[in-house]
Amino acid sequence: MSGQELLDALKTNELVEYAQVVNDKAELFVSYGNAQLAAVKTVNEMGFYSITTDLYIDKKLAGQLTLVVNNKQVKESIRVYLTVVVAVMFISLAFSFLLSLWVQRRFATPIIELATLASDISDSGDYSQRTSTKASGEIALLQDVFNDMLAKTNDRELALESLVVQRTKELELLNKQLEAQAYYDNLTKLPNRALYEDRLKQSIAQANRDNIKVALMFIDLDKFKSINDTYGHAAGDELLCQVSRRLEKQCRAMDSVARIGGDEFTMLFMLAEDEDASDIARRIIDLFQIPFNILDRPMLMTMSLGVSIYPTHGQDFDVLKAKADDAMYQAKQAGRNQFLIYQ
Ligand code: GH3
Ligand code: MG
Repeated sequence: MSGQELLDALKTNELVEYAQVVNDKAELFVSYGNAQLAAVKTVNEMGFYSITTDLYIDKKLAGQLTLVVNNKQVKESIRVYLTVVVAVMFISLAFSFLLSLWVQRRFATPIIELATLASDISDSGDYSQRTSTKASGEIALLQDVFNDMLAKTNDRELALESLVVQRTKELELLNKQLEAQAYYDNLTKLPNRALYEDRLKQSIAQANRDNIKVALMFIDLDKFKSINDTYGHAAGDELLCQVSRRLEKQCRAMDSVARIGGDEFTMLFMLAEDEDASDIARRIIDLFQIPFNILDRPMLMTMSLGVSIYPTHGQDFDVLKAKADDAMYQAKQAGRNQFLIYQ
């Protein structure tokens, strides 16, 4: 490249105010620009700056290139560059901030909402809650799957609850049936011996508190076997049930009746001060004066009845029962259809 071509190339740079090329004998070879600036050495008071560099051709010193540049313009250029750099940085920062906001809105917020909802649900156990924020893309898919899982869990929870309610009802029913089997006679639905003994204990405790007496009556139907033999076992069953209902009607709140064997019943009466066990026993015997209705025909039945009194004849069920039983046996011996108080 010739010195002129070199200077032509530098002319395009507006920072260069003056340029010269001298040969190896320091004779001016070519120059352009303001020749008065040729004297500038370093930075002068006008703000011009001079740079000199050696030129070599085939590794031989061929001369020197001197450039005088306007230092103010250099500074201005640097200021412009810095402004551009700062603006680019600011725009990058703003862009990064907006990008992070967008990422947060799109990903972080719905995921945090899902996590909060999951925590709420595990605390409250309320599976009817759903995530409400409307996201898009993969997050929307995650929300849908999450809501779907909640719906299924909620359904299963409700199904389990109703199953528990159903099972509880079945257990209660079973419990009642077991209790009925344990304490009630299956045929007549009267209390059985176990419940009766318990009630007798309660009656005795009550009688002790109230200082009154209790009458224990032991009943055995007369010639009941012949009903079975003549009309069949079912007719006998029906008669036992009808007898039970009649005996039941005679009981007041504190009295009770139980079936303790085939055609054997026992009754408890709390005796008020002016009450006589004989009157009650007679009333029971007289109950059977009205015929029963078995297989659509009237049927007469009688009973033999023995009575023992607490505390006159004994303190506990076994003794009182044995004495009432004994009195009943005496009544049978005496011709049936009558009562006897233990003597
Ligand atoms: P008695 O006057 O001496 O008491 O004569 P009875 O025929 O009543 O004789 P007993 O009391 O000894 O016999 C009761 C009968 O009741 C015996 C049995 O065949 C019958 N029996 C026992 N349990 C049931 C039952 O659940 N249903 C029916 N239909 N009969 C029963
Ligand atoms: Mg009998």
